[in-house]
Amino acid sequence: MSSTEIFETLESKVRSYCRNWPVVFTKAEGSSLTDEEGNTYIDFFSGAGALNYGHNNPQLLEPLIDYLKSGEIVHSMDMYSPAKRTFLETFDRVILKPRGLDYKVMFPGPTGTNTVEAALKLARKVTGRQHVLSFSNAFHGMTLGSLSVTANPMKRAGAGIPLTNSTKIPYDDYLDGVDAEFGWLERALSDGGSGIDKPAAIIVETVQGEGGLSAARAEWLRRLSELCRRYDVLLIVDDVQAGCGRTGTFFSFEEAGIVPDIVCLSKSISGYGLPMALTLFRPELDVWTPGEHNGTFRGHNPAFITATAALETYWRDEAIVPTLAARISQLHEGLSQIAASIDGAVVRGRGLLAGIYFPDHDAAGKIAAEAFDSGLLIETSGPEDEVVKIMPAMTISEEDLAIGISILSDAVATVTG
Ligand code: PMP
Repeated sequence: MSSTEIFETLESKVRSYCRNWPVVFTKAEGSSLTDEEGNTYIDFFSGAGALNYGHNNPQLLEPLIDYLKSGEIVHSMDMYSPAKRTFLETFDRVILKPRGLDYKVMFPGPTGTNTVEAALKLARKVTGRQHVLSFSNAFHGMTLGSLSVTANPMKRAGAGIPLTNSTKIPYDDYLDGVDAEFGWLERALSDGGSGIDKPAAIIVETVQGEGGLSAARAEWLRRLSELCRRYDVLLIVDDVQAGCGRTGTFFSFEEAGIVPDIVCLSKSISGYGLPMALTLFRPELDVWTPGEHNGTFRGHNPAFITATAALETYWRDEAIVPTLAARISQLHEGLSQIAASIDGAVVRGRGLLAGIYFPDHDAAGKIAAEAFDSGLLIETSGPEDEVVKIMPAMTISEEDLAIGISILSDAVATVTG
């Protein structure tokens, strides 16, 4: 039996990443992965954004091992534990207070989809309204609520039932340079006879991680935020992928200076790739009835331990920010050079959540395949997978980033040459 045959036989066809990378990965360290055959790969994928601090980061591994050996509680649902107490205190001291943010923290379950579901339910409960606006090419998750605000038609069709109570409106910058103004929306919201239901909330990604790496301009986000305030519509920022440092600041909306009503975090919040999610909301929105929204895995103590270690190591005094800024400049310089060599290619995204759009929509997939053969993991993004997506760990070394960019550059030259 080949090393991958058992997956083909026993596991559902629904799996997808393995189709691009048909090897069995064994070890991983920092920004490097090894397969069963001993081949190594530079990781520009980072667990779809769950590994902002790299694989098996020793700064997080040591406290995790100590914790697991200590006999302290592992699973505690939403009961009190010292690990949870320390996480809450650290998150408040290291992340919220220095940014002047006053949010209540909810543990909605282990995944990004869970935090989006909680945010949508809360917004509907608070406002008593049902409709939610989201954006063209948005991705917010795979369960019915989060899928209803997701744009991708193929994924929506998977629901098998009509997805209601959500309308998609044009995202900023999607067609590069097209200014998706809010004038029409403002008219619709202010005109009682417009026939458009006033929404409970607008949910937005500041960078569309799955939808093609379009990035909203700070000014556009500010106008969106003002519009929400003016018409008493809650603003939800889905920072599941763009948050936890990926754009250069802990929250991706910091650059715009906006304060969303609700914030969704998951992926890299545990730091170590352990499942964990947070829903943050303004304290006055805490209208839940106890038990009204619950779940078995609402904050897992080992994840609290690694999450706390990540915040203390990388965010206390913004310790990671200077090297992160340097890696971001290095990446964008490299991507600009690659894009400059191809007619119509455009660099997309922000920070270490970036990519290159290719006018030949088949190119990105071929480039990703070519890169894999040369030892680099990259994904594609966008409605037609027309964007090569680059998402290295924030802790990647200058050298590994340079090697990865050079493999990418060669792969682009081979495919487009
Ligand atoms: N929101 C965004 C912006 C995402 O990128 C994702 C995952 N790609 C999700 C929500 C859903 O997260 P999960 O896969 O953990 O359910």
